[in-house]
Amino acid sequence: MNTLVFCNHCQKINRVPNEKALLAQAICGNCKSELPFHHGVQEASDAGLKKLISNCENLVVVDFWAEWCGPCKVFTPTFTATAKELLGKATFVKANTEICVNSAQTYQIKSIPTLLLFKNNVEIGRQSGALSSSDLKQFLLSKL
Ligand SMILES: [Zn+2]
Repeated sequence: MNTLVFCNHCQKINRVPNEKALLAQAICGNCKSELPFHHGVQEASDAGLKKLISNCENLVVVDFWAEWCGPCKVFTPTFTATAKELLGKATFVKANTEICVNSAQTYQIKSIPTLLLFKNNVEIGRQSGALSSSDLKQFLLSKL
């Protein structure tokens, strides 16, 4: 099983084997840059987010966040731990609202953190606020 990871450098989608994803730094097969993919979570750009949402066959979980947001920081370890646990079942993406400005606008993100779930290019779930680990898992498992 692979996770699709978008290379922000050359704009190509990589297939990173899940068994390797947590062990080593993933490198882009096309341009050899380091992929923005750590602990099962990737950092997206607007272009990457669009491509991932339309190309991933499994559930795409997007965490809209910002550096200055306290609750976002509180939620980050929960998100990462859950991503590790569900790696392969879902694609976990962090979208910094100051980088993914267009996406935040398109999806009308009014508060952060906000989680958006996509399947087959369609939004199928949305939840705002820093969820607890058990609430997050329950939310995701209901949509897998
Ligand atoms: Zn690349």
